[in-house]
Amino acid sequence: NKPLAEVDPEIADALQRELERQQRTLEMIASENFVPQAVLDCQGSVLTNKYAEGYPGRRYYGGCEWVDVAEQLAIDRAKELFGAEHANVQAHSGAQANTAVYHALLQPGDTIMGLELAHGGHLSHGMRINVSGRLYDIAPYQVRRETSLIDMDDVERIAKERKPKLLLAGWSAYTRQLDFARFREIADAVGALLMVDMAHFAGLVAAGLHPNPVPYADVVTTTTHKTIGGGRGGLILCREEHARKINSAIFPGQQGGPLEHVIAGKAVAFKIAMSDAFKERQRRTIAGAQALATELLEGGAEHGVSVLTGGTDVHLVLADLRESELDGQQAEDRLHEVGITVNRNAVPFDPRPPMVSSGLRIGSPALATRGFQVDDFHEVGKVIAATLSPAFETRKAELAERVSALADKHPLYAHLGTPTPA
Ligand code: PLP
Repeated sequence: NKPLAEVDPEIADALQRELERQQRTLEMIASENFVPQAVLDCQGSVLTNKYAEGYPGRRYYGGCEWVDVAEQLAIDRAKELFGAEHANVQAHSGAQANTAVYHALLQPGDTIMGLELAHGGHLSHGMRINVSGRLYDIAPYQVRRETSLIDMDDVERIAKERKPKLLLAGWSAYTRQLDFARFREIADAVGALLMVDMAHFAGLVAAGLHPNPVPYADVVTTTTHKTIGGGRGGLILCREEHARKINSAIFPGQQGGPLEHVIAGKAVAFKIAMSDAFKERQRRTIAGAQALATELLEGGAEHGVSVLTGGTDVHLVLADLRESELDGQQAEDRLHEVGITVNRNAVPFDPRPPMVSSGLRIGSPALATRGFQVDDFHEVGKVIAATLSPAFETRKAELAERVSALADKHPLYAHLGTPTPA
């Protein structure tokens, strides 16, 4: 049992450098977050050694008494947190959770109606070369060109035309709340099941800051690593009537042994998500995204940078660069140069190709976890707006300095050591 640095110095070095990258830069990818040490402890634990095909109390392997405890805690806490009748905590990822739901409730060739990828949907909602797009008939809905918002009358019209078996609400890039009651009404009107993929906003739901889709939907899926702030994985919540089908679609339908070390980490994250401190963090997450939007609107207008839908109700902002000389790739690269990590993102009806795109998706969850307050988010927003302005080249050093000052003000994983100077 030699230390990693001795067994594999190259991997140890990559881990150390990644820690330092996270400590030194501002992580603003909207789907990312920082897990607490308690979750890292689970993920690096001996639970990784254990085979546990099946479910707590009904395993195909002996010696499952302690992983049963961990998995049952994860299940019970997920149900309590979101008010769900049934929870399956075994999906290895969000995309696999979604695939399992389709596998459980649909037959190949059935119609799924979800938000189009280029308008903010996720690739597991029917992208052509994703398994969802290959196995099922996809009837996408879009956002309105004038508002960049989902128009529920459009959703209703398409649903009546295409008669989906599954109506899917949820997104990877959208800045407003969805009307779950109306989605339910439409699903009922056409005899569809309603699925909500709350991967992005699950943390906001857990904190009571976003409507909870669970009372409306047949099935709700989520990742466990975005706003909810746990380790990388998936979660499925559903009504009791679908429980057996969902469980058997995960195992043996598409997975063998569950990742019990990851599941223990999910249990810890759900426990944390019930705390007042978590609620306060989610409030800062939304307020922080709103501060970013304000600064981008103020500082960007002069040079063609604006914000889709004019602001945000959630944890992310979509910068619209359609009127800017900068494309998404150039904007992403500039921010990288000053120490801010974001991802470029197509805006709806994007005139530029997807690999370049005309948008940026900028998220607040990781910085909120790091302790950023609203005034810090205003400062970050000012730095971003300046970075996207024509003055960038002359101000680069100053902007990078301001990023470093923010990173120093809110140390990350300080107990794991401080980063060596860049
Ligand atoms: N669903 C939505 C809405 C997402 O945004 C994502 C990931 O970004 C996923 C599912 C997929 O999650 P994973 O990357 O864990 O497969």
